[in-house]
Amino acid sequence: MKLGLTSDLRDVDPRIANRRVGLRKKGPPAWEVLRGMGMETVGGLLRHYPRRYIDRSEVTAIRDLRVGRQATVIATVKRVTKRLTQRRQTMVTVQLYDGSSYLDLTFFNQPWTASLYKPGMELAVFGVVGAYRGHLQLRNEDVEILRGEADQVHTGRITPIHRAAEGISTRTIRELAFRALERLPAIPDPLPRETTDGEGLAGHDWAVRAIHFPETGEDLGRARERLKFDELFFLELGVAYRKRRLEMETAGIEHDLSPTLAKRFLAGLPFEPTAAQRRAIEEVEADMARPTPMNRLLQGDVGSGKTVVALDAAMVAIGSGHQAAIMAPTEVLAGQHLVKARELLAPLGAYEVGERPPGGQLALGDERPEHELTYGFLTAAVTGKDRQRMLEGVGWGEVDLVIGTHALVQQGVAFHDLSLAVIDEQHRFGVHQRLLLKEKGASPDVLIMTATPIPRTLALTYYGDLDVSVLDELPSGRQPIETRVVRSAGERRGAYEMVRAEVASGRQAFVVCAAIDEANKVEVRAAEQEADRLATEVFPELRVGLLHGRLRPAEKEARMDAFRTGRTDVLISTTVIEVGVDVPNATVMLVENAERFGLAQLHQLRGRIGRGAHRSFCILFDESTPDNEEARARLTALASTTDGFALADEDLRLRGEGTLFDIRQSGMPDLQLASLAEDVDLVRRARERAFAVIDDDPTLAGHPKLLEELTVRFADSIEWLFHS
Ligand code: ADP
Ligand code: MG
Repeated sequence: MKLGLTSDLRDVDPRIANRRVGLRKKGPPAWEVLRGMGMETVGGLLRHYPRRYIDRSEVTAIRDLRVGRQATVIATVKRVTKRLTQRRQTMVTVQLYDGSSYLDLTFFNQPWTASLYKPGMELAVFGVVGAYRGHLQLRNEDVEILRGEADQVHTGRITPIHRAAEGISTRTIRELAFRALERLPAIPDPLPRETTDGEGLAGHDWAVRAIHFPETGEDLGRARERLKFDELFFLELGVAYRKRRLEMETAGIEHDLSPTLAKRFLAGLPFEPTAAQRRAIEEVEADMARPTPMNRLLQGDVGSGKTVVALDAAMVAIGSGHQAAIMAPTEVLAGQHLVKARELLAPLGAYEVGERPPGGQLALGDERPEHELTYGFLTAAVTGKDRQRMLEGVGWGEVDLVIGTHALVQQGVAFHDLSLAVIDEQHRFGVHQRLLLKEKGASPDVLIMTATPIPRTLALTYYGDLDVSVLDELPSGRQPIETRVVRSAGERRGAYEMVRAEVASGRQAFVVCAAIDEANKVEVRAAEQEADRLATEVFPELRVGLLHGRLRPAEKEARMDAFRTGRTDVLISTTVIEVGVDVPNATVMLVENAERFGLAQLHQLRGRIGRGAHRSFCILFDESTPDNEEARARLTALASTTDGFALADEDLRLRGEGTLFDIRQSGMPDLQLASLAEDVDLVRRARERAFAVIDDDPTLAGHPKLLEELTVRFADSIEWLFHS
């Protein structure tokens, strides 16, 4: 029978596939366990790439082992003995021979190893060389069975080690992969010939074979490059496909730019917009005037003034007779937007729901007077009659602009005529939630704002379907922030002195005490005690406010407000002060245990200061030990630049993409081999090729195989790809 990528694993080689796994070989057959690991077919098996390789050219002969060094040894099992020690522990000794000398592996209290290793097997052992009573030993060893007594797998110079699980040895997986590749006819190449030739890439079939059983290190490199390219190419192809599809849709709302509302809004601002803000506003307005829906990302570092751009877009929507919504990820942030909107919309004579003067309420069906503008607030904390009124106002169109949290996308919230959805801090929502707010309107324009600069490769992949506007300029008059890392007690006293001096000249200060895990009561209490100590011992003469995780939202808001309006001098917070909190008079940010925070978080914290006309200082107390190189690298990076984009790239490099941004949750296809942190150039190349294909053939009608592969790879985001 012919083997194909969709064949069952039992068709590869029933002897291997049916091998029982687990302790004493009493478990289920291997194929069943592999199916549970996502390897249902030959194709699935072959996409399970080795996690590392053992290269025979890097192996040490037993005769050359040096006590105290790490080494990999490849040798054959000569003898296996089991006995009880005087302390009644079982001790299994596996004697190895590699042609040069003998070596013992010893296992205590692991009696099963006596039946696991058999004479004639070939093992690769990695460990630290030791000696015991004149015999060489390997300690803390990691043992791989390269070949069983009767296996025929020829593994060449480099042996792949596949990820094993649930009692399946890497050897079983390796043997199955070997047999499958032996029997499988050439695997068709999923990429067009001109793409692979143009990029000078290896063939797909060759690459799949070589990544499992490479002959040389160079082959492995070529194979990985090719398969990484495949992953990135299809990711970008999906992105390009969706982008072009949205551009071809004509179902969007064509906003009218002639009403004067937006112009009056800009004219009424208490400051001059920056050149970057003007440019972004122009780009957004042009998008909104087009019949195709807007899908734009507004990237701007903290303090760059994104809110003005969002409100201008809202005025365009409302000026054309529609509604707008601004969604933020937390109560505090939504509250912040409300405060800003109140201030900046006041010159337009805007009302907040419920503030309308008596008799001013519109009845259902009334004509709306031209000059009126109503905005409202909707979060989980808005309840009872207030909530009812909001829902009704939103539903029949009395409320023009709604500011809120994800409460906006919950069931029961129906908009009369939503034409603009602004989503702030999008990365906290994930791709799927992005779609929910969009669904509240017919085909609203979408503006996504993020204050966390996105590393370039992420911007090109997970946000690659969006057009981008960048606010790369801070409002003028801002003073640069000076950042210092503090480690000694003397420097710490100096920092406290500086807080007093700043307060004496009328400024305010934030102090953040790390309680990384709000669920961990001990940590939270320690942070609260530290906050208490600061309030009573260090700054007894200052007016100190305290924010912590166990305050009720109303109390939190009251204390925030006391600080915002200058009734407290120092705000000590055990919770991370939210992204977007805006108190221009604050000029000091002290961060306790700064080593516990991530780079992006620290950058956000620093962004809370330097928002006014005064010089600002960010002081990072570092309690890390000198060997904590990653933490120290993070703090050094932060002190060396205030450029959020540079920091984002550095963060991605230090931590890898998984921690910065949950890609799995995003619903996009997983990257197994490619790394957005490291494969920057490959991302760019794959993107150019994928967009070139879509430029020629937007619907992929002429590339049915590509379309099919796309459908498979985006199985978890079919909606995103084809429909929404
Ligand atoms: P972010 O991009 O971090 O959301 P905001 O929109 O909150 O920034 O703006 C930060 C602060 O700067 C606010 O107090 C805002 O009113 C002010 N601001 C925005 N644009 C300008 C400008 N062009 N000139 C002066 N101040 C501005
Ligand atoms: Mg903001």
